[in-house]
Amino acid sequence: MARYVGSVCRQCRREGAKLYLKGDRCYSDKCSFSRRSYAPGQQGQKQARKKVSEYGIQLREKQKARRIYGILERQFRSYFEKADRQKGITGENLLVMLERRLDNVVFRLGFASSRTQARQLVRHGHFMVDGHRVDIPSYLVKPGNVIQVREASKESPLVKEAIEVLATKTVPAWLELSAPDAAGKVVRFPTREEIDVPIQEHFIVELYSR
Ligand code: SF4
Repeated sequence: MARYVGSVCRQCRREGAKLYLKGDRCYSDKCSFSRRSYAPGQQGQKQARKKVSEYGIQLREKQKARRIYGILERQFRSYFEKADRQKGITGENLLVMLERRLDNVVFRLGFASSRTQARQLVRHGHFMVDGHRVDIPSYLVKPGNVIQVREASKESPLVKEAIEVLATKTVPAWLELSAPDAAGKVVRFPTREEIDVPIQEHFIVELYSR
């Protein structure tokens, strides 16, 4: 599947917000956005002063969500359509669905410092869901699912490093972490308040409802 291969930090500068795409670096003074918070390119500083249309705001909010979760347009649209068919508030349904992705859950459980790294770990087949190897980052978990590092993967340098510091991680209330077992459980779906992403999802709904 095609992926964005440009500079990751440019995406934060484009969206005018920290999207936390680079793990630990995002919390350090090396963060590019902290140093240059205007849009990239020669016109970047001028753009910051330009008035943005309603459509522009809606579009940026959708792009921000796509970038945070690392999803391409077509798949994002399909998440929206599913969310729209569900009962409840479409925007919230959308965010809950994005949170349920296996790569996001691996990140939330503290096995990876970013969603990008989590996606790579999942793709390499390092995780099992309820005892079965799952290497599909978009796999949607549900309450009761147990996500565990495969025995054979515990010696992989990246996974080993993550397991060593797992006990220091705090996980959201909808997940349960068992650091000694290198495993986590989905207790329930998250509520909107528990999803700490800087997204105003109603703009995304408005965009797709045009
Ligand atoms: Fe964004 Fe992280 Fe890069 Fe900062 S370091 S600009 S938060 S991806």
